[in-house]
Amino acid sequence: MQLNLKQIHGTRAHEHISRHYEASALQAPDDAYTIKAPVNLTFDLEKDRDNYHLVGQATTTLELFCGRCLESFSLPVRAPFDLRYLPHREDAGGDEREIEDDDLSTTYYDDETIDLGQLIREQLYLALPMKPLCDEDCQGLCPACGTNLNRERCGCDPKWEDPRLAALRTVIKKDSDA
Ligand SMILES: [Zn+2]
Ligand SMILES: [Zn+2]
Repeated sequence: MQLNLKQIHGTRAHEHISRHYEASALQAPDDAYTIKAPVNLTFDLEKDRDNYHLVGQATTTLELFCGRCLESFSLPVRAPFDLRYLPHREDAGGDEREIEDDDLSTTYYDDETIDLGQLIREQLYLALPMKPLCDEDCQGLCPACGTNLNRERCGCDPKWEDPRLAALRTVIKKDSDA
C-alpha cells in the first residue's frame, strides 16, 4: 500500500492515481469502525521537486454502532482530503519547524514513499460522524426496560422519569415555594 515516489519522474509532474483495496487489507483491530466494502482511493498528485500535493477522496462503506439504540448499521462514507507531503530529513535542523504545528494537512514522508494505507485510515477516522445514528429518527432504547423502540413497543409508561430527577424536582419546588 506504499506509493513509490521514485516512479514519479521529473521535477514537476501531475498524475491521476486510482487504487482499490480490499477491506481486510486495511482493517486494524483497534479501529473505531469496521470497513464493510472495498475502499476506492482516487486522487490527483502534483509534484513540485520533493513536495507532493495530494487531492482526492476515499470512499467505502463502514459499519458503526448507533449512539441511541446501540445496533450496528452501515454508513456509506466519502472522505475527501487535501494533503501536502514534505520529505522528512534527519539533518534538516529547524527547517521543519517553520511549518505551523497546527497545520494538519502537512505530513512528512520517509524513504521516498507515501503510505496510502495510513492515509486512508486517517481520513476514514476524520470522516466519522460525531454521534453516529442508524437513522435521524431512531427511537433509541426504552430508558426503563431497554427495549429497542424501533422494533417493538414495551409496556412501560412513556412518562417514566428517572427517580433521581423526580427527587431533584421536589427539591427545586420546595426552594421556590419558600
Ligand atoms: Zn439507532
Ligand atoms: Zn420499556
